[in-house]
Amino acid sequence: MDKPAVLVSREILPEAVKMLEEGAEVEVWPDEYPPSPDTFRSLLSGRAGVLTNIMDRMDGPTMEAAPGLKVVSNLGVGVDHIDVAEATRRGILVGNTPGVLAKCTADLAFALLMCAARRVGESERWVRDGQWQMAFHPLGWLGVDVHGATLGIVGLGEIGLEMVKRARGFDMRVVYYSRTRKPELEAEYGLEYADLSALLSAADFVSLHVPLTPETRHFMGEAELRAMKATAVLINAARGPVVDPQALYTALKEGWIYAAGLDVTDPEPLPADSPLLTLDNIVITPHVGSAAIPTRRETMFLAVRNLLAGLRGERLEACANPEVYAGLGI
Ligand code: NAP
Repeated sequence: MDKPAVLVSREILPEAVKMLEEGAEVEVWPDEYPPSPDTFRSLLSGRAGVLTNIMDRMDGPTMEAAPGLKVVSNLGVGVDHIDVAEATRRGILVGNTPGVLAKCTADLAFALLMCAARRVGESERWVRDGQWQMAFHPLGWLGVDVHGATLGIVGLGEIGLEMVKRARGFDMRVVYYSRTRKPELEAEYGLEYADLSALLSAADFVSLHVPLTPETRHFMGEAELRAMKATAVLINAARGPVVDPQALYTALKEGWIYAAGLDVTDPEPLPADSPLLTLDNIVITPHVGSAAIPTRRETMFLAVRNLLAGLRGERLEACANPEVYAGLGI
């Protein structure tokens, strides 16, 4: 029997392609840049599955171009670039990759937290710039303490919980705000639940770990940034639009908050002339939260397993729209 045809929208590790080829006829888009939306749609024609990433917009018209599509397997947890409701309506399974990249992403979010607190990026640029003319000054390069500070987690899911574990090693008090209160985790990790405004006024570090949804777009706007302490640091390793970039610029420029660390921006890529790049009190990485070799390998394998399961008509290991199972009788 012929294997089902699938598209992999960007180069992945050869061992992941090999694994996929065991159950599918695979075409990998070879370019560094993604296909244009028109090319993507024509590439999808006749495919039963596609392995996507955050740069592939899977909207209604794109799904329309692929009437035989059974499964969209996304490399990553966030599925805000996929119209999941439309996929559900069409009976298309959407896979994602929880469970394999939370630790890695929390590592990076915590790195940003430390860099922003202790001015690592800013002072490193100064050294490279040849400006280190005097060995030490008692008032030079003062930052804020990480150890013993209060961390406010917004969105206590997988990554938020990994941030909690890292914070414990730094003797931090942890306050969280999330859609659902988690009493067992409160007891296990000594967490304090607070509503958003109480969290914002208590935290020395506010770290965002909510998905991007209509409710969380510009979750951190002017009012929220003004509610933070003037000595506080904002970390965003979730999705760029969770923070209003204009309000963040003003907050950093006018000193409503002390600093920010971003792994995600709005838009991405951040244009070279973005006003945020004129500020010293911000550290920005280019959406690399889960970009460590073993983690990315595990993520690719999970995305491939999801895709193969969907093609076989089985449940996925991780599915963003399990409602589809009923219609498929699985
Ligand atoms: P997760 O396990 O689904 O956790 C998300 C948490 O946010 C859940 O606890 C959820 O509450 C909470 N939440 C959802 N909507 C909310 C709202 N309106 N208000 C308050 N809390 C809300 O996801 P995760 O794995 O931690 O990942 C979080 C996000 O990080 C992803 O969606 C993705 O966008 C982003 N991410 C970024 C990178 C990167 O490279 N920078 C890597 C991975 C993920 P419930 O407990 O009630 O569901």
